Amino acid sequence: MPRHHRRDTCRLCGSRDLHLALPLPATPIADDYVAAERRHEPQPCFPTDLWLCLGCGHVQLLDVVDPEDIYRSYLYVTRSSPGLVDYYRRYADEVLAAERPAAGALVVDIGSNDGALLRAFRESGCRVQGVDPARAIAAQATAEGIPTIPEFLTPDSARTLVAAQGRARIATANNIVANVDDLPGFFATVEMILAPDGTFVLETGYWGGIVDHLLFDTIYHEHLSYFSLLPMQRFLAATALHVVDVQLTPSKGGCIRYHLGFRAAGRTPSPRVAALAAQEQARGLHGIAEAARFRQRVEAAGAACREALDQAVAAGRRVVGYGASNTTTTLLYAFGLGPHHTCLVDDNPLKHGRFSPGLHLPVVPSDLLERDPPGLVVVNAWRFADQCIARHPGFAGTWLVPMPALRTRGGSGA
Ligand SMILES: [Zn+2]
Repeated sequence: MPRHHRRDTCRLCGSRDLHLALPLPATPIADDYVAAERRHEPQPCFPTDLWLCLGCGHVQLLDVVDPEDIYRSYLYVTRSSPGLVDYYRRYADEVLAAERPAAGALVVDIGSNDGALLRAFRESGCRVQGVDPARAIAAQATAEGIPTIPEFLTPDSARTLVAAQGRARIATANNIVANVDDLPGFFATVEMILAPDGTFVLETGYWGGIVDHLLFDTIYHEHLSYFSLLPMQRFLAATALHVVDVQLTPSKGGCIRYHLGFRAAGRTPSPRVAALAAQEQARGLHGIAEAARFRQRVEAAGAACREALDQAVAAGRRVVGYGASNTTTTLLYAFGLGPHHTCLVDDNPLKHGRFSPGLHLPVVPSDLLERDPPGLVVVNAWRFADQCIARHPGFAGTWLVPMPALRTRGGSGA
């Protein structure tokens, strides 16, 4: 049984002045697709409400599910995602161009998964060290030549790392910091492993991108924080670090990449830092009004999708969902679409034969669309709708893409 607690303070600034930005239903752990033998066991659900801190503007979940329960048996391997390996090659090249480390400098990746990013740094002549709590994946990375400590980054694992390898000229963390509940503790530990002239590069989901592109289904227990620049700058003011560069990246629909350095190193921040801060200020990104507009757009999208599926089911059409990921769980629960679905199809073989979190919809290969065509396919993986549709040119039923604005293609409409 996963352990869970609800905090009552902002995890960046400690304020108790918290505003409910987007109420969402309780869900099971979003990526906990269960094997057949567990399909008759109910899965516990935990709240996923989204909160805005009125003290600093940080957007976050207050409900925390013990990370041991989420990550230790993680199914996700970096190289299973198409395009991500190439992305890391470019990522390493961009970081090396900006940082220009000496030959043989140490790069540490926190949450290194199968070592895909570190492999790119090693090819460029860096020494590398991974840290990742998913034991099986860490062991495999080590066996393949990317030394990986099979732990979370803690003061203990940081001391082990520094004793073995020295301090890092570059530390990276991709899509990890959003998962950390104790941010002051995490950044203090990063300071332990970073050389005095070191840079901490972290990339994570950007609240502005989530608002702009309506990426509300990236909200689930794993993602405790939805970062932006101004709250981060306020937070870092109380640490030894500051933001020396920042950029918005298209990864996962909308991310922010910060470069942090020790203030004592005296590096002048890039003009991009002040530019993005001014942009966030000008649009009121951290205000209640912006959050209310976001909530209204999400709820309108949900109502439109539910109505379309109500009509399809009433017309006797069999509904199948495309995509069986963590975002699917949020989408199905938030929009109340579980009852409409008969099953999910997915192109990841690791998901086949499993059952969706809580709703226990069976997950089958997507050739179902040719073998036993349903009347309507909802592309729950809507950010990849064009790829999903292109994969099945012979499908004669209707495609329904629920987000960011509902659209249908083929058949006789929903
Ligand atoms: Zn705060």
